[in-house]
Amino acid sequence: MCALCDGGGPVGPAVGRRALLSGLGAAGLALGAVACGSSGQAAAQSTGAVGSAKLELVLLGTKAGPPPSADRAGISTALVVDGQVYLIDAGRASVTQYAKAGLSLGALRGIFLTHLHIDHIADYFNYFVLGGYPDEGMIGAKGPVAVYGPGPAGGLLPKFGGGNAPVVAPQDPTPGTRALTENWNRAVAYSSNVFIRDTGASDPMALMNIHEIQIPAIGADFTNRAPTMQPFEVMRDDKVRVTAVLVPHGPVFPAFAFRFDTAYGSVTFSGDTTYTDNIPTLAHNTDVLVHEAINLEGSSLSAVEHNHMVTSHVEVQKVGAIAQRAGAKRLVLSHIADLASPHIDSSKWHDWASTGYSNNVIIGDDLQYIPVH
Ligand SMILES: [Zn+2]
Ligand SMILES: [Zn+2]
Repeated sequence: MCALCDGGGPVGPAVGRRALLSGLGAAGLALGAVACGSSGQAAAQSTGAVGSAKLELVLLGTKAGPPPSADRAGISTALVVDGQVYLIDAGRASVTQYAKAGLSLGALRGIFLTHLHIDHIADYFNYFVLGGYPDEGMIGAKGPVAVYGPGPAGGLLPKFGGGNAPVVAPQDPTPGTRALTENWNRAVAYSSNVFIRDTGASDPMALMNIHEIQIPAIGADFTNRAPTMQPFEVMRDDKVRVTAVLVPHGPVFPAFAFRFDTAYGSVTFSGDTTYTDNIPTLAHNTDVLVHEAINLEGSSLSAVEHNHMVTSHVEVQKVGAIAQRAGAKRLVLSHIADLASPHIDSSKWHDWASTGYSNNVIIGDDLQYIPVH
């Protein structure tokens, strides 16, 4: 049972509406307020098989939106290729879920941030300040971890619904991945300096190589956030080639979807997105499409609120058609929220997500292990 839903059933529409109209956290807060996830299924998911396949996924956290929930951790997924781990987003409790999944911090090669909403980055810096203690499993044991994430947005849009909004940190209100990381490092400098002297812990910044993703010159900026485009290469190493497209996600810029091609097949992550031609282009014939989804059916949102939600997210009833159009061989839903119910009804969601899609659908749960090859 999630705290927000405890005792009173679903949070009433007034809460969602107030959050929505106040513009707090855009869609996220409104989403999370009523998205309490499924029951304790997650604990029952076996992760003992991690490492038994060449290409595998572990859904570390599957929840959409910032508000904490006891049932689902924040969005974060581990892609494991030949035992090397690539982390896509690092939402709340990602570090804990990573440990629960039996993954070694020493095997973490790269962290990819789809966008800088807090539900995707809450645990990002914790990997480096909690994981940098000398033992064979420490983060960066085999060299700095590559971090790929958005550069600065460059501007803010007006408040949804009109009116004034305070500006947080007006001297730099839209820091990208590099400034965000340096700010975080400064904020916990005292702890780091003490532990470096006292226990031999590492300088967190020495454990990572930050790359702000360079967007091709297609005229994209915070006012033209996701024009139709072809995928571009973000990085490649001996295990993966990573390509990306911009995706439309409300006022957020940039927001990326990532595709990982490996010797054993491909996995594509939608990130947070509404409808766009860029996803089927990126996910063309992919082996697994990991896609976000929300349910609005049966919710009490007004037409205005409904329309606002679908400027940021894809409805579960329509995600199957996207996977079909992409030619994806499997569809996995993660970053999920139901605005009509405090819980995700997996069988109902499975039926919805299968609409218009002829292949296999998985409604993701925390710590779910998915071998790909
Ligand atoms: Zn999100
Ligand atoms: Zn988001």
